[in-house]
Amino acid sequence: MSSEIRTVAVLGAGTMGAGIAHVCAAAGAQVRLNDARQEFLDRGIARVAEFLAAGVKKGKTSPEERERILAAIRPELDVAAAVRGADLVIEAVPETLDLKRALFAKVAAAASAECLLASNTSSLSLAEIFAAVPGPERCLGLHFFNPPPLMPLLEVVRTARTAPAVVERAAAYAKTLGKEPIVVQDSPGFASSRLGVALGLEAIRMVQAGVASPEDIDKAMQLGYGHPMGPLRLTDLVGLDVRMAIADYLREKLDSPVFEVPQLMRQMVAEGRLGKKTGHGFYTWDPKRL
Ligand code: NAD
Repeated sequence: MSSEIRTVAVLGAGTMGAGIAHVCAAAGAQVRLNDARQEFLDRGIARVAEFLAAGVKKGKTSPEERERILAAIRPELDVAAAVRGADLVIEAVPETLDLKRALFAKVAAAASAECLLASNTSSLSLAEIFAAVPGPERCLGLHFFNPPPLMPLLEVVRTARTAPAVVERAAAYAKTLGKEPIVVQDSPGFASSRLGVALGLEAIRMVQAGVASPEDIDKAMQLGYGHPMGPLRLTDLVGLDVRMAIADYLREKLDSPVFEVPQLMRQMVAEGRLGKKTGHGFYTWDPKRL
C-alpha cells in the first residue's frame, strides 16, 4: 500500500522540512519542497546538500546517491503547484495554529481528495489544525525528530476522525522511509514530548533539591537505564526556553502538576542560561562549537 505514495509535497523548507524532503527523496519519492520565499527554498536545498556532502565524506553516501536525492527534490514557490497531484503533503511551517490552518485551507483547495494531509507539529492539536479541512479522515500527524535523516522514530498521530486505513498506510510508509512508527492519539505532547519533558522537569527538581549533580543525575539515566543521553544534557541541547514553553503548554492542557515548571528552570531562562545555544545551561558549552 505504501508504494502508492510516489509524490510528496513538503511545506516549509526549514530545519525539519529540508530533512523530511531528504528522507522522502532518499526513499524514492518525487518531492516538491515549498517555502514562502525563494531564499528560504535555496537555504533548505543547501541544507540537504550539506548533509549529503558530509555523508559522502564519511563514506556513508555514494556521490551517485547524493545526486539522485538532490535531483528528486524540486523547489516550488507556489503551494498549489507543490501539492497538485501529490499523494502526501507534509507540513513543516512554524508552530503557529493560525499559520498552519491558513496553509491547509490553500492545500485543500489544490490537492486531490485522496491526498493524505499531514502536519509535523510537535505540540499543537491536530484536530484544531484540520478542523476546517474537507475530508478529515485523510488528515493526521507525522511527527519526525531532528535531524530527520538520522532519527529513527516517527510518531503517527491520529485524530478521532482519521480513518484507520490512513493510519495503516502512514505507518507502512514510515517503514519505507526507514523509520519505526508508533501510533499515538492526538493528545498534548503525544507520547515523546509528554514523557521526555516529564523526565527533564523531574531531573531539574532534583538538581534544585540538591539530590545530586547534573552530571550524576544524567549518569543515573545513562548507565542505570540505558538512555543514550541524560535528561539535563538533552534539556541543554533543546534549549531551556523551548522546553519551558512546552512544559507550560502541557501543564495547562493536561492540568497535571507533573508539568509544573521548577523555579530553577524559570530562573535560568530569565538569566539567559538557555543551554548549548547560549554556552551555559546545566553544562558549560564550548562557544567555538555552538
Ligand atoms: P523552521 O523555522 O526551521 O522552518 C519553518 C519554515 O517554514 C521556514 O523556512 C519558513 O520560511 C517556512 N514558512 C513559513 N511560513 C510558510 C508558509 N506560509 N508556507 C511555506 N513555508 C512557510 O521550523 P522547524 O524547526 O523546521 O519546525 C517546523 C515544524 O516542525 C514546527 O511545527 C515544529 O514544531 C515542528 N518540529 C520541529 C522540531 C525541531 O527540532 N526543530 C522537531 C519536530 C517537530
